[in-house]
Amino acid sequence: MKKINVAPENPQYRIVEIFESLQGEGRNTGMPAVFVRLGKCNLACGWCDTDYLAFGMMSLSDILGRLKTYAARNIIITGGEPTIQPHLDTLLDALKAEGYFLCLETNGLNPAPPQIDYVATSPKACYAAKYEKSCIETADEVRIVADGDVLAFCENMERKIRARHYYLSPCEQNGAMNIYDTIRQIGILNSRPDAPVHWQLSVQTHKWAGIE
Ligand code: SF4
Repeated sequence: MKKINVAPENPQYRIVEIFESLQGEGRNTGMPAVFVRLGKCNLACGWCDTDYLAFGMMSLSDILGRLKTYAARNIIITGGEPTIQPHLDTLLDALKAEGYFLCLETNGLNPAPPQIDYVATSPKACYAAKYEKSCIETADEVRIVADGDVLAFCENMERKIRARHYYLSPCEQNGAMNIYDTIRQIGILNSRPDAPVHWQLSVQTHKWAGIE
């Protein structure tokens, strides 16, 4: 018999942090938003800069109460990987009922929940074989981190994920950022014959500005 996963009345969530700031990258750079960072991930990228295991448990009612203390009505659900969070639907339903605009940041191995208004997916070239098997099929933006030669991966993701915007982001490893190589790869992607000219640069502006 199939196990039905019924959410408790006031479920608990793995919360790394909740804070108000500006979106630092991608299409919505500069937009005020409240970030809800959920714990745990289904990948383990070597250059990951998020301590997604440093979470505490927080109830739905406490999360909603906390969000009311911020001005922004735009919530970015991020991680870690948000789609592996138990009872995520219950949280998203509650946020929609409060009238929030919901953005999801996901590595794209799982589909985006229907409550989400804007999907930014960041498929990881270092796990290309997983994306070969299955991944998200549509998104508002695709953001790929150039952690090496990612040209073939970008072309594959372009075929698999239909999106309005495609970005390549430099990778920061051991304190160095490969921005010139990232721009070089964008140039190659945008000069392919008979291919769309839609690859753009996305940098983590919040790091440059010194804000969270
Ligand atoms: S998918 Fe994102 S959060 Fe997960 S390990 Fe990779 S960079 Fe970190």
